[in-house]
Amino acid sequence: MITQHAPAQKARSRALPEPDSKLNVKPDSKHKSKLNTKLNSKLACKLSALGADAIHGLLHLFYPLNCGACGAVMGGGERLFCITCEADLPELGYHRMVVQDQGSKGEHAMARRFWGRLDLEGVWACWAMKGAGPVRELLHRLKYSNRPDLARGCGHYYGETLVRDGALAGIQGIAYVPMTMAKTSARGYNPAREIALGLADASGLPVHHKLLTRLPGGKTQTHKDRFERWESVRQLYAPGPDLKRLNPAQCPHVLLVDDVMTTGATFEACGAHLIEAGFKLSVAALAAAE
Ligand SMILES: [Zn+2]
Repeated sequence: MITQHAPAQKARSRALPEPDSKLNVKPDSKHKSKLNTKLNSKLACKLSALGADAIHGLLHLFYPLNCGACGAVMGGGERLFCITCEADLPELGYHRMVVQDQGSKGEHAMARRFWGRLDLEGVWACWAMKGAGPVRELLHRLKYSNRPDLARGCGHYYGETLVRDGALAGIQGIAYVPMTMAKTSARGYNPAREIALGLADASGLPVHHKLLTRLPGGKTQTHKDRFERWESVRQLYAPGPDLKRLNPAQCPHVLLVDDVMTTGATFEACGAHLIEAGFKLSVAALAAAE
């Protein structure tokens, strides 16, 4: 299944109301806030599709928007992040660097994690995630706080940067790291899929939804050390039903997307299937844990 998106200039992202920010929920308004969450999300998605500044302003008037990073209430001109976070989020700029073999000049720290493991064209991440800070807050919010809109908005934000810098010029399609059906159902969405769709909105590239499959089983990686992750993650991903249907001659270079890059084990486990199928591969995450 392929989702084709409109060119960058026609696509617009919109930050949506924060449904569960503890910073702005008074005890007596908690129930009301929950009731409003679904309404806000549906309303905002429809308004986002319209892409009208006037409507966005109206939405902001009735439902104050919160910064995706720090959670503070934003002003009328702010969309995804408050002006402070917009300026302070630590952008990495890896897409401007060259990924080469070990020992070459121009490589970056994240690319080194794949040396000898995966032959990648590009290793990109938008922001550095260091300890507790706005990037970690942002990732936690878009993964665990029912914020598919925030994930997609961040994907669009990053996509605009990649388009502006010409990084996507040699890429023909986007894939993303899958989740199990059970986890997707429980969470309501796959953040990586939303990020991929945001990237597609900004770039006009198609998203290929079923190139990879996440097999059942496996525990969360959060508390495992690096060696344990490498060993356990490899077995969790398999080629998806659409991988054989996508011709590498028509889509020679795929961008594989996830929310966060830590050891690179997940990208390696997924990317190996794509490379084995004949595709050139670049990987991109919103954040890289350094
Ligand atoms: Zn902020």
